Formats: sequence, structure tokens, C-alpha cells
Amino acid sequence: MKVLVLNCGSSSIKYQFFDTERQAVMAKGLVDRIGMAGAVLSQKREDGDDVRIAGEILDHTAAIQYVLGMLLSENHGVIKDKSEIQAVGHRVVHGGETFSGSVLIDDRVLKALYDNIELAPLHNPPNIKGIEAVKNSMPDVPQVAVFDTSFHAKMPEKAYLYGIPYELYRRHKIRRYGFHGTSHRYVSERAAEKFGKDISELKIVTCHLGNGASIAAVDRGVSADTTMGFTPLEGLLMGTRCGDMDPSVVTYVMGKEGLTLAEMNTMMNKHSGLTGVSGESSDMREIEEAAAGGNKRAQAAFDLFCYRIRKYVGAYAAAMGGMDALVFTGGIGENSPAVRKAVCWNMEFLGIEFNEKKNEEGADVVSTESSRVKVYRISTNEELVIALDTMEIVGDK
Ligand code: ADP
Repeated sequence: MKVLVLNCGSSSIKYQFFDTERQAVMAKGLVDRIGMAGAVLSQKREDGDDVRIAGEILDHTAAIQYVLGMLLSENHGVIKDKSEIQAVGHRVVHGGETFSGSVLIDDRVLKALYDNIELAPLHNPPNIKGIEAVKNSMPDVPQVAVFDTSFHAKMPEKAYLYGIPYELYRRHKIRRYGFHGTSHRYVSERAAEKFGKDISELKIVTCHLGNGASIAAVDRGVSADTTMGFTPLEGLLMGTRCGDMDPSVVTYVMGKEGLTLAEMNTMMNKHSGLTGVSGESSDMREIEEAAAGGNKRAQAAFDLFCYRIRKYVGAYAAAMGGMDALVFTGGIGENSPAVRKAVCWNMEFLGIEFNEKKNEEGADVVSTESSRVKVYRISTNEELVIALDTMEIVGDK
């Protein structure tokens, strides 16, 4: 089946056009600066063809028209007719408590997505715009929503409730949802394959470490707990997000610095994390470089980042009553030997025997042969999961 996978942001649309039989990406591209001056579409085709066009792309509907035009283009396209697009799969950030799995989008689902906007006011509206845009341009093509939250939908109550009055959960649905679910699901399944056992027999801790970062405890194939919470702000230190802290800091800082709710929110989401602690950068490569050059605050940011991961790895091993595999993924998890080393160093008591040489080489397995806990480096592929879920759901229709 040929599936178009879309990840729609407020001013950008990332797309990948899949041939699911070959599990191959025939073309992938980005429409950037939607609604702004200098809007541009760039695409790479499977055979290496590379193209970039500028245009006046005022909204998401226009952007989808550009994507279709490119996929159909004589010189740079991959299809001859629009009807070759058999389904569209969307990454949707927040499914709330309504969706515990991927779904075919109909009017009822679309309404439920609108109802969930309040939970993800930054992310869900552009996802919905993308769905509406496809509906306008290709009304007969089935669309599927794949949620960042749904893999975590089976978390037990003790993992998702917060210690605040229960009425707040009832009234406003304040609870842990968790994010990056598609990635945690994909890499835990790959880890089980590498381990050579069925995922239903394994306890796996998955670390998705990119600009946003989260860890999940995947207990026999089910997400039992995860570090991101009501929003993606909780848990690990991230590029620009603060992660865990005493909630009293919020009210105290707002009082001391005279900040509004919006300003405090921006401070915690955009000016904290690696950026805030180091004062240098949100980019781990630059943090590592600055730390190597003797920059103490960059070193502190690096240490804080890795220390939190270590804490959660231990916590989740305890929560699951053991751990068979530890997985690193995301831009940092896949590419930073220094972070993996700082997390896995001196963890023999948990069954991790770290292989420094393999780690430096960027091998797929960075634990020793005899290590009881296997440590894997696995490239995530959220788009492939979306394409395959879409195929399955549309095929089942
Ligand atoms: P996003 O969450 O935006 O998808 P990515 O998963 O691409 O982000 O991760 C981006 C992060 O990965 C950045 O902090 C970047 O510095 C880091 N990264 C990429 N390559 C390396 C590397 N070789 N060493 C350390 N960090 C790296």
C-alpha cells in the first residue's frame, strides 16, 4: 500500500511517502514557513533526487496542494495519479483519554480531536489543520490518526494519577499521559527482536533522548510508566525544558520575578533545560564541546541531563521488578557515546556490563556479551509505525 505520512506543525509539514510492502520511503520532504514570507518545500526522493522550491504557501491546505504537486511532478515526483495515494497517516500529539490506539478518522473522531485541543493547545490544532487540509484536497482518501499518547494509555492508575485532589482529575483530566509513545513502542519491539524473545516476556527501559526527552518502563510490551506527564514538560532535563522540579518553585519564582502565567510557562518550556543551566545552547553537541573546553556550566548541564536518566533507569527497574534491556534512541541517545557512558557507568549492580569500546564505535549493542541486561542503540522510526498502523487500519476497514 502507498501511504502518505504527515507530521503537521504550526508553520511546517513534514511528510514521508511510503511503499509499505517494501517498507521503503519513496520520497520525504518538508514544507517550511507556512503562512510566512520565504515559504519553501524541500524533498528528497529514494533515488537521491533532491529539490527545493519557494512559493507563496499561505495555509495548510495550500501546503498539502504543494506536497501533492511535488509527489505528482514529472521531474521530481513518485506517482502519476493522485489515486495512487491510498491512505494518509497523521501524527497526532494528544489523544487524551479518548484514544488508546490508532484510529480511522471520521467526523466523530475529528470532533473528539477538537475536544482534546485544550489538553495540547500548541500541538493538536496544527494536526487538525492537516487533517482538514487533506479532507479538502483528497476527500475520498481514508485518514488515520496515530497518537503520541496512546502507547501509554494502559499505564496503571498509580503511575498516572498525581497527588492532588481527585476532583481535579475528574473535572479537568489532570493526569499523566506521556508522549513519544510511537517511538517507545517501536524501539521496544525492535529490542525484543534483537533480544530474541517475545516482548511479552521482557522488561525494557527505553530512553528517547532528543530535543524533547522521555523514558518509558515497557513491562511485557505495555508502557507501565513514563517520565513525561500531563504535558511534555515533566521528567528529564531537555534541550529547553526544565523537567522535574518542586512545584513550589513555580509560585515562588512568579512572585519574586513578577512573572505572568504565560511568562512562567515560557521560562520552563523555552529557557530552561540544557539552555537554561548552561547559558550556552540547547544542542547536546555544543554542550559536550563546551564542557570539554572547560565550561563549568555546560558540564553541569551535561551532568544533570545524564544523572536524571540514571535515576529513572534505576527507578523503572525497581518499578518493574527487574530489567532485561535498556534502549537508547533519539538524536542524543543514538549519537552520543558520552551520554550513554555517563548513564551506564557503574551500573553492574543492576546487571549492566557496559562495553566502552563498542559504545565508542557506535555499535548496535553496547553491553558486553555476558551482560545480563542488554544495552541497545536503536534508531527510532516513528513514521514507519504510522505508515504500518495506517495500512493495517485502512486494510481492516
Ligand atoms: P528532536 O527531538 O527535535 O527530533 P533529535 O532526536 O534530532 O531531536 O535530537 C536532537 C539532539 O541530538 C540535539 O541535542 C543534538 O545535539 C543531539 N545530537 C545529534 N548528534 C549528536 C552527537 N553526535 N553527539 C551528541 N549529541 C548529538
